[in-house]
Amino acid sequence: MNPEKRVALVTGSGRGIGRAIALAMAEMGHTVAVNYRSSSVAAERLVEEILSFGGRARAFQADVSSAPEVERLFEEAESDLGPVGILINNAGITRDGLLMRMKDPDWEDVIRTNLLSNFLTTRRAAKDMVRSRWGRIVNISSVVALIGNPGQANYAAAKAGVIGLTKSAARELGSRGITVNAIAPGFIETDMTAVLDEKIRSQMIIQIPAGRAGRPEEVAALVRFLVSEEASYITGQVIAVDGGWTMA
Ligand code: NDP
Repeated sequence: MNPEKRVALVTGSGRGIGRAIALAMAEMGHTVAVNYRSSSVAAERLVEEILSFGGRARAFQADVSSAPEVERLFEEAESDLGPVGILINNAGITRDGLLMRMKDPDWEDVIRTNLLSNFLTTRRAAKDMVRSRWGRIVNISSVVALIGNPGQANYAAAKAGVIGLTKSAARELGSRGITVNAIAPGFIETDMTAVLDEKIRSQMIIQIPAGRAGRPEEVAALVRFLVSEEASYITGQVIAVDGGWTMA
């Protein structure tokens, strides 16, 4: 096997940013495990698209907020495709609401889906990566982890947790040829942001030096670099892809 061709597992990649990342991984020549929770049609369509340009991919249904489902996901992906060398933790949800009125399930669902999932997949993937002394883990955090956001206490806490997890994992795994980085996207056009009303959208755009929302492919471009050999000395970093929105 060409050592530069790996199995890349992208969580929540049937649509949105995950879809763009999965396509980028396939274009690099990696075999892609397309994980989805409920978007089976979109996930199968993505697999067909990857196969149509000569890439390798398969779709795997699993809820990554559940420990047994993460275990099953890895068992299935490994037996079909081989050990996971590249892990992209992309799956995420929002359950927005002001903190004084936020319901417990809205807090718990967001923490489980956006943070616990990253711990479960990273713990599982690290075993094979340590054995092969090579690995790439990229966690999709958010700029709200850095600056907070009214109405998103649950989401910001989960995404800030992802950054702590990223840095700790980078320290634990760095000597084994494994890099762990986080990307903090700003305002990216996907289903997640399509629900925002026009007033909120224009208020955000005004604060973005680039003067526009970002595209999923602009996040995927950074993932492409972070999983490459060229990025082997970059670990434990949080890199914003936000059109300059949160620059210090
Ligand atoms: P979308 O809502 O468009 O897509 C979310 C994806 O996550 C879907 O593919 C969905 O799968 C998957 N997903 C959700 N829950 C689970 C689960 N329990 N198990 C497996 N998959 C799951 O979101 P985006 O593409 O916009 O977001 C992708 C990531 O980027 C998220 O982590 C998000 O928080 C982050 N982000 C997005 C920003 C933006 O502006 N869009 C900004 C900053 C960060 P399915 O459809 O099968 O349920």
